[in-house]
Amino acid sequence: MSPPATAVRGRSHQPPPNPCWLPIVCLLAACSSPAAATTAPAGPTTSTDPATTASPATTSAAPSATTSTETTTPAVDTPVRLTIVYDNTAADARLGAAWGFSALVEAPGGTLLFDTGGDGALLLANMAQLGIDPASIETVVLSHAHDDHTGGLPALLHAGAHPTIYVTASFPAGPRASLAAEAAVVDVSAPQQILPGIFSTGEMGGAVPEQGLVIVTAAGTVLLTGCAHPGIVAMVEQAREVLPGDIHLVVGGFHLAQTPPAAVAAIVAAFRDLGVQRVAPAHCTGEAASAAFAREYGDDFVPAGAGAIIEIG
Ligand SMILES: [Zn+2]
Ligand SMILES: [Zn+2]
Repeated sequence: MSPPATAVRGRSHQPPPNPCWLPIVCLLAACSSPAAATTAPAGPTTSTDPATTASPATTSAAPSATTSTETTTPAVDTPVRLTIVYDNTAADARLGAAWGFSALVEAPGGTLLFDTGGDGALLLANMAQLGIDPASIETVVLSHAHDDHTGGLPALLHAGAHPTIYVTASFPAGPRASLAAEAAVVDVSAPQQILPGIFSTGEMGGAVPEQGLVIVTAAGTVLLTGCAHPGIVAMVEQAREVLPGDIHLVVGGFHLAQTPPAAVAAIVAAFRDLGVQRVAPAHCTGEAASAAFAREYGDDFVPAGAGAIIEIG
């Protein structure tokens, strides 16, 4: 077991305003003050075989009519692998931690990078440690426009990536123009397939519009979220609209750091009611909320953090 990694990117003991808590849409590189990252939770973060905890794969591999593009059923006997590339904490001592989120999704239908963290140098350093070649990234999905999810993108592009970038339809015009100058940009409004077996929830509304990913696996549906500004329960409900059935795993930022304990308890209960079988809260979930999920889910609580690799199916 590696010792918990200490955050290396925080530059202040007084965290500046977290862009993910502000009811505004930050422009790319416009709100890049790094919050003081926290240390990693104890323990390794590679999950055990989820097949041991998963119910039979009752989730339909066929998307509902809400998806707007032709769909392809992936080879469900091949595991899906999620690698947390960038997070507030580090699960792998070789990696740095800073406020933000990024995850690599490797699925039978293809590979994509979901969000890019806030600091390009750290993103690239973590990718190098994980053996991920920036030039191999052909698809990027940005959950929302906040800098702690988009700030690493320029460095990724300048490191040789030539991806198609999927953004929410309301993504700010200025950053969109910057991206469009260097890459193909695709707007997402309604739920749609990004790659075979990987769907966007579609743009979800609120003060900060956001999209998550809904992924088909042999163990069931996986929901990947950036910061869950539309509400993590609403995003779980949306995932069930995109792929009807229970949710095997919800991973990413749950955005509960400032949510009162009673409300967190209600959200944990809602997860159970919605058939969420495992959880891997990260990024902006908050320590108290993460602890509440850990108490409820026990062995089905999957530790996250940069360097965590979660194989499903
Ligand atoms: Zn965030
Ligand atoms: Zn945010």
